[in-house]
Amino acid sequence: MTILTADDQPIILKSIEQKLLQADFKVITASDGKQAIWLFDKEQPDLAILDINMPEKSGFEVVKHIRETRKSKIPIIVMSGNDEENSIIDAFNLGIDDYIQKPVGLNEVVVRIKRLLKMPLNQNSCTNIESGILSKNGIGIVIPCYNEENRLRTHEFASFIRLNHGYHICFVNDGSKDQTLQVLKDFQRGHEHTISIYDCAKNGGKAEAVRQGILFLLKDKTLDYIGFLDADLSTNFEDFDDLTKTISTSNFKIVSGSRISRMGADIIKQSSRGMISKTINYIIRKILGMEFQDTQCGAKIMTREIAENMFNDPFLTRWLFDVEIFMRMRNFYGRQSVSKYICEQPLKRWVHEDGSKLSMKDSLKIIGQLFKIMRKY
Ligand code: UDP
Ligand code: MG
Repeated sequence: MTILTADDQPIILKSIEQKLLQADFKVITASDGKQAIWLFDKEQPDLAILDINMPEKSGFEVVKHIRETRKSKIPIIVMSGNDEENSIIDAFNLGIDDYIQKPVGLNEVVVRIKRLLKMPLNQNSCTNIESGILSKNGIGIVIPCYNEENRLRTHEFASFIRLNHGYHICFVNDGSKDQTLQVLKDFQRGHEHTISIYDCAKNGGKAEAVRQGILFLLKDKTLDYIGFLDADLSTNFEDFDDLTKTISTSNFKIVSGSRISRMGADIIKQSSRGMISKTINYIIRKILGMEFQDTQCGAKIMTREIAENMFNDPFLTRWLFDVEIFMRMRNFYGRQSVSKYICEQPLKRWVHEDGSKLSMKDSLKIIGQLFKIMRKY
């Protein structure tokens, strides 16, 4: 049985292809609608599984071609992140057989395909293998890394990437003096299409590392959202995924993790940092003119618009660039509207990992830098 699958996101296409091969199908792939039409005519597949939003021609046009132009009755599945009821109804009116909404598990996709092809569902056990989720959007994550050879839990990154299709991680080696770059390179082997390494020859600080990573990921047009996370995973992927869900189902342009202590949240912080960080947060709120609880959380996700407009110029400070992002947004969108684009989302869990590079002395320096920011923006 041959299956035609079309999606404009290479990572998604590759994951579907791998899974379908595992299920013993023959697979032909197209990265846009025009190519899908051409492949349909040439290969006469037994089933087509199509994304809606694709360059050249949309999935709807491919459906029309199959049903109206070619009068073919092969099963057609539309698989899309588009959850608008009208699109779903339109698709069924055009004659599709099933509509799958992303995010969706790959095993579910296989089962739906087999059902439409009237194949026995237990023919082989490939749906028993944990294969992960196809995400709704293309998401890039920047991980700044400075001397992280011992802290980097590569197995956690690996299992996330293995089970979440649609993500691209860019590790930025910020001029580390240890073997971080080598650790990253070893880790990248075999994951080249989901993991990139951006190497900065000199240490420029987290702000510049994140900025370079974001500019790098912006070149990949299939990424809808770009975020960043600390290398120690003090915010883990589960929480990051919650930020992702929020941004992809709202009009917020940036969603920022917030380490607010509250019942049920497992928030562990070092108490010596408590007082200083409270004072710093107070000054930040006054400068921003926004009731921000925690600007400094190292987990944030933003739309391309924010990534494209707030990261063009280097930041003034090494550790307060988060504040600078929000100051830039305030200048860009205006004082009145800016807060409706920003969402602070409480984290379920946050752990203070040892080995921070921020000392007590730095904390005092921060107060001085805050006033520098106030003057500049
Ligand atoms: N980092 C960086 N360049 C630096 C210092 C730190 O890229 O010059 C990265 C570091 O590898 C980590 C993140 O920035 O991923 C946050 O650093 P750290 O955990 O030391 O600070 P924390 O915010 O936890 O105190
Ligand atoms: Mg940390």
